[in-house]
Amino acid sequence: MEKEKHSLYYSPDYCRQEYSFDTTRKARWIADSLDRNPIDKIRLIAPPPLSLADLCLTHSDAYISAIATGEPEALAAAAGVGWCENTLTAGLSVCGGVVAACRDAVACGGVAGSLSSGLHHARRDRGDGFCTFNGLAIAARDAVARGLSRVLILDLDAHCGGGTASLIDGEVRITQLDISVDSFDCYRSTAQATCVLVGAAGEYLSTLDRELDRVGREWDLVIYNAGMDVHEGDCGPAGLDSTLIACREVTVFEYFRQVPIAYVIAGGYSRGPGGIADLVSLHRSTLRAAASVPRGLSHPLPGV
Ligand SMILES: [Zn+2]
Repeated sequence: MEKEKHSLYYSPDYCRQEYSFDTTRKARWIADSLDRNPIDKIRLIAPPPLSLADLCLTHSDAYISAIATGEPEALAAAAGVGWCENTLTAGLSVCGGVVAACRDAVACGGVAGSLSSGLHHARRDRGDGFCTFNGLAIAARDAVARGLSRVLILDLDAHCGGGTASLIDGEVRITQLDISVDSFDCYRSTAQATCVLVGAAGEYLSTLDRELDRVGREWDLVIYNAGMDVHEGDCGPAGLDSTLIACREVTVFEYFRQVPIAYVIAGGYSRGPGGIADLVSLHRSTLRAAASVPRGLSHPLPGV
């Protein structure tokens, strides 16, 4: 039976930040690549932006005011991607896409995605590490507000998701599994958030397998932060190449084939020798895995 298309949320508003940098531009690069070279079973859809009221549930009024007005300048630009009059619009659109993908995945019991990035280092009262607002925590909070009680954030970006860990602390319906290759934004693991650092490419997939088995499949929703900066040409150890990353993507979508899963693109930078083309190709490996891994029973019934 042919699998239906899944929604991939994207709006040109994601890229309205004036400061031109991978995090503020690559959603458009990937969307453009899908125009030129579509991936079967993916349809691009523009999400509604997040409301200011919903943003206030996760970020402080003082920080939101700084992003809205540009004052104080140090706080408005703390994420490291500058500040302009469009920063708030871009942030609301990027986070709206994560929320839309999560609601979509839950509604269809399947897969949805958003070309959102720059999320997991943002804290309640400031941005950091190219992350303005924490769309992961915002979307997880939205999911529990809608009645879900078991939400897993799977963060496989190269860097640790300390911002997300700080924002979900105390919300027992949200759990984070964080496997990283760089200690930036690391944190002490708790019952809710586990931070694992991997130092060698040969241990990467085995660590992922072990940790997935530990957290299991009993989730109402998985939010997957699919960072590509684990690549050996970026932050990752030698040997962590595009083939291994493609295996990672298939592993994740196969493991959660019976669980609603929403993915975002997270980190990944064009500073390697392959530039933008290689970065886009890496992110497309997430989209391909999401589109191609069959959904449903992990062990088909005998004779079926
Ligand atoms: Zn990163």
